[in-house]
Amino acid sequence: MHKQPFLVMKFGGSSVANADNIKKTIQIISDSSKKGQGLIIVVSAFGGVTDNFIKMASLASQKNRQYKHQLTDLIDQHNQAISKLVKPNRQKLVLAEVGKKYHDLNESLQGIYLLGELSARSLDQVMSFGEQLSAYIISEAMKSQKIPCEFIDARTLIKTDENFGSANVNTQKTHQLLSSHFQAHPKLSVMGGFISSTGDGVTTTLGRGGSDYTASLVGAGVNAQAIEIWTDVDGVMTADPRKVGNAFPLLKISYEEAGELAHFGAKVIHPKTMKPARLKNIPIVIKNTFNPSGAGTRISHEKSVQAFLIQGISSLNKISLLNIQSNNGQSIGEMATKIFDSLSRSEIEILLTTQASHEQSISIAINQSQASKAKGALEKAFALELKAQQMSPISQEDHLSIVAIVGKQMKGRPGISGKLFDTLGNNHINVVAIAQGSSELNVSVVISSNDEDKALQAIHDTFFRPKDAFINLFLVGPGLIGSTLLKQIGESSAPIRLCGLANSKRMFFAGELTPGRPTDLKEFVAQMIKLNLPNSVFVDCTASETVVSYYENILTAGIAIVTPNKKANSGLLKSYQKLHKVAKANNAAFCYETNVGAGLPIIHTIQSLILSGDEILKIEA
Ligand code: ASP
Repeated sequence: MHKQPFLVMKFGGSSVANADNIKKTIQIISDSSKKGQGLIIVVSAFGGVTDNFIKMASLASQKNRQYKHQLTDLIDQHNQAISKLVKPNRQKLVLAEVGKKYHDLNESLQGIYLLGELSARSLDQVMSFGEQLSAYIISEAMKSQKIPCEFIDARTLIKTDENFGSANVNTQKTHQLLSSHFQAHPKLSVMGGFISSTGDGVTTTLGRGGSDYTASLVGAGVNAQAIEIWTDVDGVMTADPRKVGNAFPLLKISYEEAGELAHFGAKVIHPKTMKPARLKNIPIVIKNTFNPSGAGTRISHEKSVQAFLIQGISSLNKISLLNIQSNNGQSIGEMATKIFDSLSRSEIEILLTTQASHEQSISIAINQSQASKAKGALEKAFALELKAQQMSPISQEDHLSIVAIVGKQMKGRPGISGKLFDTLGNNHINVVAIAQGSSELNVSVVISSNDEDKALQAIHDTFFRPKDAFINLFLVGPGLIGSTLLKQIGESSAPIRLCGLANSKRMFFAGELTPGRPTDLKEFVAQMIKLNLPNSVFVDCTASETVVSYYENILTAGIAIVTPNKKANSGLLKSYQKLHKVAKANNAAFCYETNVGAGLPIIHTIQSLILSGDEILKIEA
């Protein structure tokens, strides 16, 4: 074995998406190689290529000749990379080598086309060309930059069973092969992730996104010093940065926390990656190819600095919830056994379960794409009970999301779930189901997918950025009072974001490029509700009865109202009471002032007097 332990560096699809990115990747490898240790480079297929292979194979299986055009594009893409990255005097040799792979690929696709059928085995065969090609081309690009390296076909080292599409690794055999191979090849090697083969040499794959897992297997097999996963974000983030603008990278987290975040949708690392590294206590470091000097995130057994109550928030969408309910005293245990058994036989991945013994019901969250298969399997398993009406028909709810908060520091610490549910309640988000693992590593809630982004932002503000939790303001009527308010907001540093503004003629929404549009109050309110932003506040500075007629809708959507408009509170007592009832029922604040007393702020003054024990004897105007 090499004197210094190996470093495994894995580069994902975006890091090797085109010649420019590959050059950045090679620079990073070259910088590391100067430190003198042995390097094992694991690469993904060029960005997007695996998806295109799947499309091609499925077109071929539908007897659609269009797949041939896609194949030509794919060949062009790889040949272009060769022409930009490989020295002219080696290009002929490299093109001949990849030419053999294109030929094999074409044969595989033709076979699928002729059969009109796509098996998991053939799909693995086709998909494997992505990593076969990228690893070989990158190894040649490195040689062209005078970085001596060796190309390895990963299928000769990573051994699996025949579970095509997501094969199970024979860890012992794989470790043996890795260890003996790298003892003899201690310098710099390049191999594809994701691809593997059975004992008989039939190509398999480790499941989509599986190159991270390959890197971890390799790291464990050679007892690496660390496994670096190079991607296109700055590390494991507190939340998905596309959904939460102020999300930030975590410096250190545990394997378990990273695993939970990955399970619930954080795409930065494949959930299977943690296990091989964890068992050998090898740190995994997530780094950004496009910001290599960033600290990244270190995943290890080391104790992390826990500056916040949780480590991160992640979410999964396109979720369905199936509810199985017995009417005849069948034990929950019996029901659960049948449910888990039938779903596992049908290879349905259960993401979350909740159970209410009193109601004798069990709810199961699964991917929407598997919902009808799962429902069918359960209906078959409970066919007798359903026929005898000992069970209610299995119900299915779609368009749901699971949002999970994750962090070791939650364990034994009261109040964290409380904060989560307060945040959801205050933002008018209904919780459909709840689960918390006994490890107290995560609390998950199932909510409507329409509320997912709002929930993520609001929960993030609660746990990570309480100081910059923005109020999202929608104002109608920028007259004397309204414009004074806007001026005050402009001058203050209060975290208020003006999201919508309307006067009697035109209305504007933040982020819209148009110079406003003619005011349509109905549309203004509808858009505000549709945007579904956390901490939304509607400020009505008009004196219009029409605006008031929308209050009920606005409060029902959980949006707070602040107004000096007297029309709302000085009409019929019944309407006034109704608005207060709706506000209370929807947890929406309804704040008003100067509605009486000709512009004098006497409401609050009187309320304070009453609260402090004074009694009103008479009001004169
Ligand atoms: N190329 C494979 C995929 O896109 C594996 C990977 O990139 O990790 O799923």
